[in-house]
Amino acid sequence: MPGRLQHRSALITGAGSGIGLESSILFAQEGANILLVDVNFENAEKASKQVSERFPNVKAIPFKADVSKEDEVKAAVDLAVKEFGRLDIMFNNAGIMHSEDDNALNTEESIWDLTMNINLKGVWWGCKYAILAMRQNPTDEAKGLHTGGSIINTASFVAIMGAATPQLAYTASKGAVLAMTRELAMVHAREGIRLNSLCPGPLKTPLLMDFLNTDEKKQRRLIHLPMGRFGEAVELANAALFLASGESSYITGTDFKVDGGLSSAY
Ligand code: NAD
Repeated sequence: MPGRLQHRSALITGAGSGIGLESSILFAQEGANILLVDVNFENAEKASKQVSERFPNVKAIPFKADVSKEDEVKAAVDLAVKEFGRLDIMFNNAGIMHSEDDNALNTEESIWDLTMNINLKGVWWGCKYAILAMRQNPTDEAKGLHTGGSIINTASFVAIMGAATPQLAYTASKGAVLAMTRELAMVHAREGIRLNSLCPGPLKTPLLMDFLNTDEKKQRRLIHLPMGRFGEAVELANAALFLASGESSYITGTDFKVDGGLSSAY
């Protein structure tokens, strides 16, 4: 059976860990060539090695870039197009969360700026260069390839709900990702470029586990989760795969929630 992403190419940011790593594996399994981008090059290299060993029929190339730097994001997109001939899927997934209490009264401007630069500006750069590349994608009817593509931006459940554990800059950055993605989806819909936000609930990845760094903190969060457990990165990767594939061809501008029911809970 042909893979769901056969002949497609993808760029995934934050590919060295968590959601990005699991998505790299799944996308490769479905036939996509992948540029695995991470500011932590060692992890990007390890991830691409893992992907290449399991799926030798696809190209998996590691690349070091800090998504908050425009020239580095442009270089990543340029390399993907050079290596693969096209860019069909851009997964702007890299993000950070300050691991201390981060409320309006005590947070520092430097934390605010760093979080915004990576979580929000980084997504803007990713969208900008992906849109420019996707406009140039050659059409190949025999392979089912067309101009345009799918851009997925990782937001968070905190973009739509108030969290009592203060993460001011993080929450603000993720809310802005939703707003920006919606607008870009409208602007570029007629070019065949779809943009959707992915809204994960609390996951068992280093990002959250470093924040909830005691059993007590974890238990306090688990009480609010309808399913009584944290999500797994692969459960988000499955949703990203759907948004990346042609199966979601009539879906754009959505806030796609994968949160174990959290956003419907009272
Ligand atoms: P993770 O920490 O496992 O992975 C994040 C990856 O991003 C790391 O490999 C890190 O090196 C990379 N990264 C960080 N800053 C970067 C930069 N400036 N440039 C390039 N790469 C950079 O975390 P994860 O849980 O897989 O998070 C992925 C996304 O999901 C993030 O945007 C995060 O905000 C979001 N999210 C996570 C949760 C959760 O509970 N884990 C919940 C909601 C949203």
